[in-house]
Amino acid sequence: MSENFDVLNRYLFDELHVRGEIVQLKQCFDDIIGVHDYPQAVTQLLGELLAATCLLTATLKFEGEISVQLQGDGPLAFAVINGDHQQQMRGVAQVNGAISGSNLTDMLGKANMVITITPKHGERYQGIVALEGDTLSQCLEHYFETSEQLTTKIWLSVDAERRQASGMLLQVLPDSDDKQQQLTDFEHVSQLTATVKDEELFLLEAEQLLYRLYHQEKVRLFEPQAVSFKCGCSEDKCLAAIMNLSKQEIEDHIEEYMTIDMTCDYCQKTYHFDRQKLQIILNPQTQH
Ligand SMILES: [Zn+2]
Repeated sequence: MSENFDVLNRYLFDELHVRGEIVQLKQCFDDIIGVHDYPQAVTQLLGELLAATCLLTATLKFEGEISVQLQGDGPLAFAVINGDHQQQMRGVAQVNGAISGSNLTDMLGKANMVITITPKHGERYQGIVALEGDTLSQCLEHYFETSEQLTTKIWLSVDAERRQASGMLLQVLPDSDDKQQQLTDFEHVSQLTATVKDEELFLLEAEQLLYRLYHQEKVRLFEPQAVSFKCGCSEDKCLAAIMNLSKQEIEDHIEEYMTIDMTCDYCQKTYHFDRQKLQIILNPQTQH
């Protein structure tokens, strides 16, 4: 069963102006939650955000990174997932108070969704939209409609307990001038897709799922892409951050604690820097 997990599948309809994606995650979701002790509702939201970010990453037409961040003035200060074109994902949430409800407003209060797209080559783009609507999928659909002018529909399904996160995306293909036909096609495929059940999204392999939903249509399924957890933190990046401190601040800290410890917010890995490791900053002239 495990081989249907942690994959993203793209598909196309031969005779309809619609494209689709399915993502089914387990290990990657589990790795992101990792040792963080999040409330259940936050784990649930991170699962949705993870599935959504995978779907969004797969819409990129170039190499690069995408981050989807929710930030607000509620007890959940922020939740963010970063992904790249290789479907390497990481994410973190910051909980500052007791979470008493499980909808977006209960958790985040007055909030925004910030989508940052960083191409490997080219300009970084950031889109900010107010977090309106009851669900993350509604917010994302609204984002696509306003910023990309692409009619999009997103289904997200998460079982926080079992650490399973799945999602589907449908989008009109901007490949025809017949806007009315595009929308008719989209409406037709949306209705078929809307019959998907959580259990099916969790358990069926992509091929079976497509057959179950669209057996009367001609659907082309592309090669699946693996999705994995990868944190980009490293000793070098921590060292670069320490270099932003003054020499005196570093000396004072080492004096008091013997070491400077930095813990990665995402994966919780701790990097230790003792005087020896900090020589390059403290006594650059002794380095050759
Ligand atoms: Zn890390």
